[in-house]
Amino acid sequence: MPEFQSKFASEEACQQYLAACRWPDGFVCPRCGNRRAYELVKLRRWQCAGCRHQVSLTAGTILHNTKTPLTVWFWAAYLMTTDKRGVSALLLQRQLALRRYETAWMMLHKFRRAMINLSREPLQGDVEVDDTWIGGPQAGLLGSRQLKGRKAALVLVAVEKRGNGTGRARMAVIPDFKSTTLMAFLKQNVAPGSTVYTDGLKSFTGLKEAGFHHVPRSQPLRVDLRKGAKSVVPLADRAIGNLQQWLIGTYHGVSRDQLQVYLDEFVFRHNRRRAPMAAFQTLLGLGTGHKPTPYEQIRGAGDLPKLSAEG
Ligand SMILES: [Zn+2]
Repeated sequence: MPEFQSKFASEEACQQYLAACRWPDGFVCPRCGNRRAYELVKLRRWQCAGCRHQVSLTAGTILHNTKTPLTVWFWAAYLMTTDKRGVSALLLQRQLALRRYETAWMMLHKFRRAMINLSREPLQGDVEVDDTWIGGPQAGLLGSRQLKGRKAALVLVAVEKRGNGTGRARMAVIPDFKSTTLMAFLKQNVAPGSTVYTDGLKSFTGLKEAGFHHVPRSQPLRVDLRKGAKSVVPLADRAIGNLQQWLIGTYHGVSRDQLQVYLDEFVFRHNRRRAPMAAFQTLLGLGTGHKPTPYEQIRGAGDLPKLSAEG
């Protein structure tokens, strides 16, 4: 962390990084093809040494036209991608020593938009699916009537099995347990031909007709699970446990209206926990419109810090 902070300590250093992301093989003027340019740091632009055409370093990124220093943005994106707990606006304000809470809130908002706008490849292979209640004292109660007018939200969770471990995840707030609702979630998030593991919930019938292999199993009773009985969807259950801890620890509970946004953030971090640099670039909107720049390809990568693989 101190290393990251010192490498991106100045506006110039951040702009150098933006330029390296934009031109991994070095500057090329989009107008005349010249390969030399001058840095106009105050304008956040590079000017072609041949035709004097100016290119904005922040165009096409969420940093465009921001009055907030790039050092602050970089530091915030770093915290968002590496801090397992996630970052609330209040925490961000404190960590970055921002004068205004609104600045931190706005940055988080922009980051979350960048997370949601990603094109998403559906989960595939072996996929565990389970549901959970989030929030509200009635969590854990059964029966569809519990949904009406209650504060708790029903969340559907899908997790890929990768060898013995957990692959990517998807999470969505759903209005009910109806078969059509569950099917809509699966069609949107899981590739046809995948094997879907669920507990024996009735609404999961019909998956075979929809092109999935379905392995329903009877989940042990909650009492027995607590005593150590093995869950039929252990990866999904672990993800749900992590989600609940994170929501309580970081946000002290969230409103039902806001929940989907937080699910997106949790999933974003979960799915990119082994590729923090890609997550960092995605958050800042770098590499939009073309494939993400591999870290190693970025010029001068050797003297830039490696982000922690944890997170
Ligand atoms: Zn030029």
